Amino acid sequence: MLNLGTEGELALKKDQQYLWHNITPYSESSPPMIAASASGSWVTDINGDKFLDGMSGLWCVNVGYGRKELAEAAYNQLLSLPYFPLTQSHLPAIALAEKLNEWLEGDYVIFFSNSGSEANEVAFKMARQYQQQIGQHYRHKFIARYRGYHGSSLGALSATGQAQRKYKYEPLGGGFLHVAPPDSYRRPADISVEEFNLQSAQAIEDTIVWEGAETVAAVIMEPVITGGGVIVPHQLYLDRVQEICSRHGVLLIIDEVICGFGRSGRKFGHHNYGVKPDIVTMAKGLTSAYLPLSATAVRKDIYEAFKDNSDGYGYLRHVNTFGGNPAACALALRNLEILEQENLVERADMLGKRLYSEFSGLLGHKLVGDIRSFGLVLGIELVEDKITKKPADLNIVKGIIAECKSKGLIIGKNGDTVAGFNNVLTFAPPLSSTDEDIQFIVDTFTAVLNGSW
Ligand code: PLP
Repeated sequence: MLNLGTEGELALKKDQQYLWHNITPYSESSPPMIAASASGSWVTDINGDKFLDGMSGLWCVNVGYGRKELAEAAYNQLLSLPYFPLTQSHLPAIALAEKLNEWLEGDYVIFFSNSGSEANEVAFKMARQYQQQIGQHYRHKFIARYRGYHGSSLGALSATGQAQRKYKYEPLGGGFLHVAPPDSYRRPADISVEEFNLQSAQAIEDTIVWEGAETVAAVIMEPVITGGGVIVPHQLYLDRVQEICSRHGVLLIIDEVICGFGRSGRKFGHHNYGVKPDIVTMAKGLTSAYLPLSATAVRKDIYEAFKDNSDGYGYLRHVNTFGGNPAACALALRNLEILEQENLVERADMLGKRLYSEFSGLLGHKLVGDIRSFGLVLGIELVEDKITKKPADLNIVKGIIAECKSKGLIIGKNGDTVAGFNNVLTFAPPLSSTDEDIQFIVDTFTAVLNGSW
């Protein structure tokens, strides 16, 4: 299957001997692609074969591959100050925190970490401690949504609403509750999208009330569920969620790990809805994944509550050695400059609309139940039957993905094999993709779907 030379065969052998891959079942018959280099939206493997990365890695290489400016920003910073802990401070972290505050269009204080999971862990600790700081001593619970993903560390996994990711790791952190997301495609036939979204938001309020509002610290959600199947809420949903949270004294944490940094067609996903989160978490596109860096942005007045240290435990007692590394911060600043200078946020909006309109003709295909998009994120939900909406068989979903790959196109899918929802194909190419790249995605995918399926 693979056309590996001797060098490639050796690399593969060593890979299988020494490397433990992320969330990938072990299989000798489908060896991993070993990437060698990349430029723009294209990745070249060790055979010299080129693939259009229609998923930007893991939804993260927003400015595309091969940006010399980013390498230079990190290199120069490594020469002048490679490291200093953020128990104290350094200039790149200060400058990036200021810049993020500008991007967020609010009054936020920034805490840096290393991954999206950790940004969420920090948000949970901040939320619980904040409630304590203001005398709300029973508020410790979190409400999240089924199908949402918030990370793999134990707290972030507890907030995740995908059972398949949790099997064999449970019991996880206590106090995490889940409600159904506003999956309008699967709403009851006699209810309008608006009504269904309001009912979905009401499920959050019902849970708050049943649990006792004085025990709930925060609600966490992505503006749009991305990896869980591209579930795009109606404006009414987020309006109501915001209103419910503020009426019950519950913080609203918005996870922008995927939706942030232009992916949604605005700077942040929540900007599309006019929501004002109490806490925003971000990673991936912050550095376009060139280096690890994440951030938890917290409303200024919440931060202020941590100034009361009268019991000796008032300050946030979270420390990470690498969080806010100077080179990662310098690179992130340059990454934000590129997004601004090349108008990539607007480009994501434009390319996403184009992709949606090109793909909308596929709604007539027997397998395509629904197509949903949000900025430059697009999901195609495959079904066995358009009336019952029974999800398409996983072998079909995997077969389409494999055939796209054999034609040089990498696409993704959601994954919750327990609930049976692993039937949404996902597309999230770099925001810097050229018109030709987008055309390649459209032509390749359309030919695959119409050809053999
Ligand atoms: N939140 C969301 C919405 C994500 O999609 C992810 C990762 O895919 C995470 C959090 C966790 O990020 P990381 O893999 O950097 O820990």
